[in-house]
Amino acid sequence: MAKQIKVIYILGGGHSGSTLLDKILSTNPAIVSGGEISFYCIYRDKVEHPKINRLTRHRCSCQKDLEKCPYWGKIVTADNGRLKIKKNYTLGENFNVIVELYRRKKIKKHEVTNSNYDLFKLMLDVKPAQYILDSSKDPRRLLDLYHDPRIKLFVIHLIRDGRSYAYSYQKPVRKKIGVKQYCYLRSLVEWIIINTIAIRQIKKLDAPAVTINYETFCRQPNQEIKKIEKLTNLKFDVNKHNPEHHSISGNYKTLEMNKPIKLVEKWKNKTPWPKKLMGTIILFPFRGWLDK
Ligand SMILES: [Zn+2]
Repeated sequence: MAKQIKVIYILGGGHSGSTLLDKILSTNPAIVSGGEISFYCIYRDKVEHPKINRLTRHRCSCQKDLEKCPYWGKIVTADNGRLKIKKNYTLGENFNVIVELYRRKKIKKHEVTNSNYDLFKLMLDVKPAQYILDSSKDPRRLLDLYHDPRIKLFVIHLIRDGRSYAYSYQKPVRKKIGVKQYCYLRSLVEWIIINTIAIRQIKKLDAPAVTINYETFCRQPNQEIKKIEKLTNLKFDVNKHNPEHHSISGNYKTLEMNKPIKLVEKWKNKTPWPKKLMGTIILFPFRGWLDK
């Protein structure tokens, strides 16, 4: 069998603080991070996507287009348009994911294409490391990777307060930068679905995993990072941010920031009280997932 590639996968909803975590983890030279690798083909082929905003377009976090980036440029050249990394899933495929996860039987590994493995291999050719960090977050992608016996997964389920998640998806600034704005209630429901699936996956997949609450992480980074140190057998310095970071997608503001970790909870002041109350009531059954 081909050599196994170790992949640390950040799982969870969008806007959950994965960029910050990605930046901290990739300071360790044993890790090479690609950011949200599920967007690779969208960035490479400059395809329009509802999540690509007007400010960052299809640029790497180093502000260059992929083909001009010192890291991704080499990968794009070697790939030569051959790889097909999946980003969009049909309704039927989504349904199959749910069936696969909720069936009593063990998940049977099925045949997969070589694209994900080959992309990881190219990433390691350009920058050799012990682990690849993939912060795509999408549970469906995690399942795709799981089916490849050549990929060994280490999962970090990152979870942020659902009210903060819903607040960030309905901000008016989203419209200005050209990405879709979502209604508060819809985002709350989406948050419940994504994290329910993520928790189910952790139970069902035969892969080591840890759960990190974003708010707890920001309050006690030194404490929380220990879970990831145990998972990966590596050491991290939460005060060190990777100066040379070549990440696809992700929150650019976080990437530019080079200050100590601070918990910003704008949603607490900026969400009108009836909405906040609604959020608190709807999320009440899931309070165990939140910061304690
Ligand atoms: Zn770059």
